[in-house]
Amino acid sequence: MKDRDLYGGLIRLHILHHASHEPIFGVGIMGELARHGYKLSAGTLYPILHSLERHGYLVAEDDVRGGRRRRNYVATEAGKEMLRLGKDRVRELYRELFEDEE
Ligand SMILES: [Zn+2]
Repeated sequence: MKDRDLYGGLIRLHILHHASHEPIFGVGIMGELARHGYKLSAGTLYPILHSLERHGYLVAEDDVRGGRRRRNYVATEAGKEMLRLGKDRVRELYRELFEDEE
């Protein structure tokens, strides 16, 4: 994906948003992001998930069903707090970007 620097924060907030509501997993969140126009390869998405995990915003848990292992991620309290702060920033930016149009 081009413009990864520009959209990187939005993608992280999007991931934290979903992971704060329910467990997410790589392929599922990849489809969800694609639905919103962010087409990420696995090679881009997984390092983002791992860095969110390393920073303590997500915690991974292995879900084994029928002999198949799936790695689920849920937001930690720190991740939810970061999401809350990020939403404030997005709200403020949104106002500034669109206040002339409304
Ligand atoms: Zn979404």
